[in-house]
Amino acid sequence: MKRETRQKQAIAEVFSIEERPLSIQEILEAASKFAPNLSLATVYRNLKILVEQGVIKSVEIPGHASRYERADLEQHSHFFCEKCDKVFDVMYDLLSIPKRLVEQFEVQRHNCILYGCCKSCK
Ligand SMILES: [Zn+2]
Repeated sequence: MKRETRQKQAIAEVFSIEERPLSIQEILEAASKFAPNLSLATVYRNLKILVEQGVIKSVEIPGHASRYERADLEQHSHFFCEKCDKVFDVMYDLLSIPKRLVEQFEVQRHNCILYGCCKSCK
C-alpha cells in the first residue's frame, strides 16, 4: 500500500477508536501508532481531504483550536473540560425548545456546548 494511503487510513482509523472529538495534536498522537513518522502537516493535509469527502467534520469551541469528529454521528452536543481541554460527546437531548421560541422561529438544529470538569479531572 502506498505510504500516502496508509497515512490517510491511519488518520481515519483514529476516529473509529476514539469516541470523542479530537484536536490535531490528539489525532497525530493516536494515528502515529498505526503510521509512524506522521507529521502535523500530514495530519492537516489528510484531515482537509477527509472533511472535503464528508467523512469528518470540524467541531468549533469558541476560543479554542478546532476539533474533528466523524460526520455520520447523530445530532448531539459537546462537553468541554476546562482542565484538560478535552471535548466529549453528549448524546442526550439537552434542550426542549421553549414554546415561545417555536412560535417565533423554526428551529432545525442546535449547537450546545457544556463547560466544566470531566470525570478524570474531577
Ligand atoms: Zn478533563
